Amino acid sequence: MPKNPSFPLIAPHPDAALARAVTTPAPAGPDMTLYEVLDRLGPSIFAGLLDTDGMLRYANQAALQAIGSTADQVLGRRFDTTPWWQACSLSQQRLQQALASALRGEASRFDARIATTSGATLSMDFSLLPLYGADGRVLWLIPSARDVSEREQAQHQLQLTRHAVEQASDALLQVGPDGALRDANRAACCLLGLDREQLLRLRVSDIDTQVDATQWPHRWRELCEQGSLRFETNVRHQEGHEIPADVSVSLVTSENETFAHVCLDDLRERRAAERRIRQLLQFDELTGLANRQLLYERLGATLQTSTETVVLLLEIDRFKRINDGLGPQIGDAVLREAAQRITATVRSIDLVARRGGDEFVVVMPTPSAPTLHTAQALLDAMARPMWIEGHEIYITCSIGIATAPGDGDLPDTLVRRANAALHQAKLQGRNQAAVYAGVPHDDDPERLALETALRHALHDEQFDLHYQPQVDLVHGRIVGVEALLRWQHPTLGRIAPDRFIPIAEETGLIFAIGDWVLCRAIEQAAAWQRAGLPSLRMSVNLSARQLLQPELGRRIEGLLAAADLNPKLFGVEVTESMLIANFDQAVQHLQALRALGVEVSLDDFGTGYSSLSYLRRLPVDVVKIDRSLVPDVTALAEDVSITRAIITMAHQLQMKVLAEGVESEGQAVLLAANQCDQMQGYWFSAAQPAAAVETMLREGRQIDPALFDRRSRQRTLLLVDDEENIVSALRRLLRNEGWLVLSATSAEQALQLLARHEVDVILSDQRMPGMTGVELLRRARRLYPDTLRLVLSGYTELQSITDAINEGAIYKFLAKPWDDEQLRAHLREAFALKEIADQNGRLNQELKVANRDLAALNGQLQTRLEAALRC
Ligand code: C2E
Ligand code: CA
Ligand code: CA
Repeated sequence: MPKNPSFPLIAPHPDAALARAVTTPAPAGPDMTLYEVLDRLGPSIFAGLLDTDGMLRYANQAALQAIGSTADQVLGRRFDTTPWWQACSLSQQRLQQALASALRGEASRFDARIATTSGATLSMDFSLLPLYGADGRVLWLIPSARDVSEREQAQHQLQLTRHAVEQASDALLQVGPDGALRDANRAACCLLGLDREQLLRLRVSDIDTQVDATQWPHRWRELCEQGSLRFETNVRHQEGHEIPADVSVSLVTSENETFAHVCLDDLRERRAAERRIRQLLQFDELTGLANRQLLYERLGATLQTSTETVVLLLEIDRFKRINDGLGPQIGDAVLREAAQRITATVRSIDLVARRGGDEFVVVMPTPSAPTLHTAQALLDAMARPMWIEGHEIYITCSIGIATAPGDGDLPDTLVRRANAALHQAKLQGRNQAAVYAGVPHDDDPERLALETALRHALHDEQFDLHYQPQVDLVHGRIVGVEALLRWQHPTLGRIAPDRFIPIAEETGLIFAIGDWVLCRAIEQAAAWQRAGLPSLRMSVNLSARQLLQPELGRRIEGLLAAADLNPKLFGVEVTESMLIANFDQAVQHLQALRALGVEVSLDDFGTGYSSLSYLRRLPVDVVKIDRSLVPDVTALAEDVSITRAIITMAHQLQMKVLAEGVESEGQAVLLAANQCDQMQGYWFSAAQPAAAVETMLREGRQIDPALFDRRSRQRTLLLVDDEENIVSALRRLLRNEGWLVLSATSAEQALQLLARHEVDVILSDQRMPGMTGVELLRRARRLYPDTLRLVLSGYTELQSITDAINEGAIYKFLAKPWDDEQLRAHLREAFALKEIADQNGRLNQELKVANRDLAALNGQLQTRLEAALRC
């Protein structure tokens, strides 16, 4: 080996930086050897010298350090057999080609994977340069390599981001300052029904129905001023229909360009769920009439505004006879026909409702004709023959009538009295109307007894409060309790609040009882705090009349101060009907309470008016979803989508959501998975006396948070097959894949498991007793849309399976008997796809959060700016 190749020997190679470094002596001085130059290239550049036989004659420090070898261990060896080249055979092959080229005088450059002692391989930009002697022959070869792992990673990241944007489930667009669309992902194309090329020929004004070309410059200016925008609009589908969308726009400024990044969130599903919620909550499915809930709401509102209101309660005589004799289908048709006849007989301003079964109610504000005339017209309308499915059917009905304010001024009282009158009409021989003619309360002796007992209850200390824990669905800890009134009567026994609270309301006893509840609950909460128990909020139910007391706010403030309880640890629960009856005043009182720091919860959401647009106007911190809307794990997907829609909407209005009446672990997990914030219900604990709650708090009782931890977890596969031996065979086959494998032998069991675990991939048999695999996967798709679902079956019921594949319920159909390797490959592919989808989901989420944070920040800035300008 030449000890010191002298510079004059080496002629410059035209494009080689390294060759230039060699021929142009470094500032270190004329004595510097080629080796010194190579050593000074820096820690991330490997360089060396080869002779024309490909033997390594020198390697710089950086290169030696990377493989932890001394010069002696590698010098003199053929370069392609040295440790650097043992990581990747493809790189080694390329090196051999490069060596051959270099001998012919050609420089080579390629990306190589090079081994290091740390066990990692580095991606390097590798060059091999020939160095010439004075005679023009190649004398030496100089290998050099630069670490480009970071560049590669960045490229990979870029690709991933591109892929994520392309695959994102939200429609994403890029818009230039001129309003022209410059890029669109697949979801955007799909949403608008256009392919990418068509879309890129359009402008914002072609798709946004609320912006025309002349308004665009204004919109762009607004975006430039605020940095981001968020609004709802309708976008136009290629086929002409409009799609409601939530739009988040942010301004992106990179080195040399500015554009808008637009995210379109399709609101159709949410709107449909909202419509469905309204429909389900307010209307009777069979007849389309108002249901019981809406009846009470409207009746309450009517009683507030009209001076006289008539309630007619109408029952079909001996309806059971029709149902039993002709079948329920005909029975249903009779009810529909009756509904139509009643509606056609009364005025359009009158409300017709179905109270249940064969009972209808007509509410007539300020009647324009004598009530008995209307009642007679209804009797006549019903008595006309009905033609239904070839049967000629005759029915009659009986009617009870009560009138406000004479017979009462609360919905419940009026309906009850109309019912008493109806009873009278039936006693008198049916097919007639009767007017309520009693003195208050003589219609129900039991009620009268309760009222008398109630008058003594407070004085005789028969009341007590029990407390039901409210639990947070993120950490699983108790964050509050709801105080629930208990009445233990010495002879009548325990009486449920649902029975005595309405009487207390009607008689005005509620003022004293409600005040007792407030005092007791606040004292108890303060005592727990003094005892050093964890902070928790005490919530108290307010009654309608209590809420309207002008001094309520001051009373609560005084009680909190006297007990030295932080108002943040106190809350009140009110229902929508209470607010609707006297909106302005109720809202004012609640606002005053909130100003103190008291939390306001909207109780029983979903059973009353539940107007979603109305909710926006209510001063409410927490929406309590009524237990009738808390879905179970085996619930129909629609129920879940209603709950989810309520949660999403409440969150958008910055309200928390608490689900009531949670009776199983599955419900709790399903709610947590759907972002519900808190829950209460028998599953965690029923209402308990103070001492029992205190014990719970001392013991730190909580829900195991692992139940909700759906992030850091193993990839999970769910196998479903009713044949146990198939399940075991599959388990054996997949033993070494590193997946958590759950198994179920029925669809029912599978749904339970899905509620409790976050499952990535489901592999289900098709033919099972109870529910088929396709059905199960359909349901799984709607409950847990992110799962990847495969069917493994020997039985090909072609139509249902192709349908399921087409509608997206099934990702793949695999045939039994299976090939082990193929099955494993399919499952691995499914997991890989799920991984990408999850990553997209996360990126999407981050993008959304970033957009929203930006919008919020801008809003704050704007407010400050305006305030500053005003000063
Ligand atoms: P609410 O405010 O909706 O209270 C929740 C009711 O659901 C309570 O019934 C509670 O015991 C019950 N519950 C809790 N968890 C579950 C569960 O998992 N499953 C089922 N099926 N039920 C569950 P409760 O104690 O009989 O109270 C009935 C209603 O009486 C309350 O309904 C509330 O409207 C009223 N009420 C109770 N205490 C008071 C009070 O102090 N003042 C006023 N104004 N009303 C009260
Ligand atoms: Ca409540
Ligand atoms: Ca409730």
